[in-house]
Amino acid sequence: MKAFDLTGRVALVTGGNGGIGFGMAKGLAEAGATVAILGRNRDKNGAALAMLAALGRQASAHLGDVTSEADLKRVIAEIEQRHLRLDIVINNAGINIRKRPEEYALAEWRQILDTNLTSAFIAAQAAYPAMKRAGGGKIINIGSMMSIFGASFAGPYAASKGGIVQLTRALASAWAADNIQVNAVLPGWIDTELTRRARSDVPGLHERVLARTPAGRWGRPEDHAGIAVFLASAASDFVTGTAIPVDGGYSVQG
Ligand code: NDP
Repeated sequence: MKAFDLTGRVALVTGGNGGIGFGMAKGLAEAGATVAILGRNRDKNGAALAMLAALGRQASAHLGDVTSEADLKRVIAEIEQRHLRLDIVINNAGINIRKRPEEYALAEWRQILDTNLTSAFIAAQAAYPAMKRAGGGKIINIGSMMSIFGASFAGPYAASKGGIVQLTRALASAWAADNIQVNAVLPGWIDTELTRRARSDVPGLHERVLARTPAGRWGRPEDHAGIAVFLASAASDFVTGTAIPVDGGYSVQG
């Protein structure tokens, strides 16, 4: 179907070298997009770039840290210079540090908020001129079940992911007239490096996730390819400001 075709579009996926970000990057490339990934780890960048290039699409990997405003602006400039446009930004890079609220150092709070929330604002601001010039664009921000629920061991993370949903709504309202759609995706429990650590650190987590998820399994990075293509393509041109769970039913189970 033509509405889902991304041929000629250029996308940035932060944290696109692994996990959910790579699942989305691969989906966009398979739909025809040129994909640029941003991460801090050179080896992971190289391996992901090779897999994207193997799909026969244009792709590029950029070293950078999303907590650095300068890095984000540099990478967006590099993408525009190399690929001549920027139509889609997926703000996916994210971290968590699990502790009770009384145990966090302020520096840890700032690190989580800078990585998960402030970076999305900076990237959206930096991409806006190119999208406006092109007559439209798509911004996809990655939230979490903790955009909706609380958790005793994830205060800063939950604050950052709640903030992602509100930032999404604000940007969607502001930029609808520029034909820029801004939406959030809220993954459930997905099997990635991020949660593999939690699975071993938090006793019983694996069983609780299986029991609470109606689909009866952990999600996979590739489960996010379809939603990424939908929200990045003309198929979603009248969809903006939403926060869509991709969670196997986790958020609707009573
Ligand atoms: P992973 O740990 O597997 O991947 C995280 C990615 O982010 C990596 O590509 C990493 O690359 C990049 N990254 C982290 N910090 C930075 C930084 N400072 N600058 C640049 N890149 C960075 O995590 P997931 O794939 O699981 O998570 C992706 C997103 O999905 C996150 O926002 C997470 O909060 C969210 N999410 C995940 C869920 C899950 O169950 N897995 C559930 C709900 C939400 P590098 O190391 O090279 O910097």
